[in-house]
Amino acid sequence: MKNIPAYAAMAAKDQLKPYTIERREPRAHDVLIDILYCGICHSDIHQARDEWGGSIFPMVPGHEIVGKVVKIGDQVVKWNVGDSVGVGCFVDSCRECEACRDGEEQFCEEGMSVTYNGYERDGKTPTYGGYSTRITVNEDYVLRIPPGMPLERVAPLLCAGITTYSPLKRFGAKAGHNVAIVGLGGLGHMGVKIAHAMGATVTVLSHSANKRDAALALGADDFIVTNDGSVFEKNGKRFDFILDTVSAKHDYNAYLGMLKRDSTMVLVGIPEPVPLAAGSLVMQRRHLAGSLIGGIRETQEMLDFCAAHGVLSDVEVIPIQKVNEAYERVIKSDVRYRFVIDMASLKQ
Ligand code: NAP
Ligand code: ZN
Repeated sequence: MKNIPAYAAMAAKDQLKPYTIERREPRAHDVLIDILYCGICHSDIHQARDEWGGSIFPMVPGHEIVGKVVKIGDQVVKWNVGDSVGVGCFVDSCRECEACRDGEEQFCEEGMSVTYNGYERDGKTPTYGGYSTRITVNEDYVLRIPPGMPLERVAPLLCAGITTYSPLKRFGAKAGHNVAIVGLGGLGHMGVKIAHAMGATVTVLSHSANKRDAALALGADDFIVTNDGSVFEKNGKRFDFILDTVSAKHDYNAYLGMLKRDSTMVLVGIPEPVPLAAGSLVMQRRHLAGSLIGGIRETQEMLDFCAAHGVLSDVEVIPIQKVNEAYERVIKSDVRYRFVIDMASLKQ
């Protein structure tokens, strides 16, 4: 299928502009999805601006995709035309390595096929993401959206939701646990809602004083503004777990001091490198870890958890023509809490 409307960055310094791409006709195990909404993740901005290096242009970003199945390959067993489905950060993987067999496809030893800024399994066909009207995906890499959920508020779960759910579950956020979420953006606001739904006592650590009321409304029990350095000492050894979602450079050592003995801070934000003092870990036998999205099985589990607990993203829906403006606002932490593109604006 040629001439599928999309928005692309042609180079790292460029604004995104209208572009057309080709999508493959569904093969035996593929589904063709009519994209209704796509969230804007800060990772889209990092990659469209080549902040991580190695970006592939032209780039059609977008890995928080929801839509309807409009066509299926003749051997598809999991999906029917009309199903509401999601696609997250990857669209394929080798399926044979230990990670894939364990359902942790994001750690595929051959490298997952990321939804955009990567290649299909042939290693040469570029992948294009959700800032477009249609996408063809193998049926095993598609997620089921539980009935009754408003699709525009589900889109951000496909990346922001799973990226926070996975470490919160792995490190056991639960009643009686003091959990801190650093950064109240797209990931952070999902982290607050999910940790709260898991029963934890949640504190937001933010550099934006004006987010206090919103944080409490999202389910946080406490809110600390980090601009005043004295808060780090005042809240020393307070938390059982810290989830750091911040996209910009900041001092990990200060936050580590807020962990109790034997407790863990998990990084999910990916800013430029920051120095780490051994003492920050050694003194209270603390742990520092990282986490990357989640596998297909866990992503489905997260969607079902969110449906059961009424957890949805707080979104600002925009037409695609406002995407460049939205990027600038995300960088200024001026979004409550995820921009979602209404793809109807690209179909007109
Ligand atoms: P976002 O919506 O822009 O949120 C980031 C938040 O970080 C902001 O809302 C802000 O919160 C805080 N922040 C921003 N600049 C700051 C600064 N200069 N100093 C201190 N805090 C600052 O971004 P996002 O979409 O949630 O993504 C966050 C990060 O996670 C990005 O680096 C993204 O690439 C990464 N990511 C990782 C994964 C993974 O699998 N590990 C998946 C998706 C995204 P406050 O205003 O509350 O301080
Ligand atoms: Zn993302």
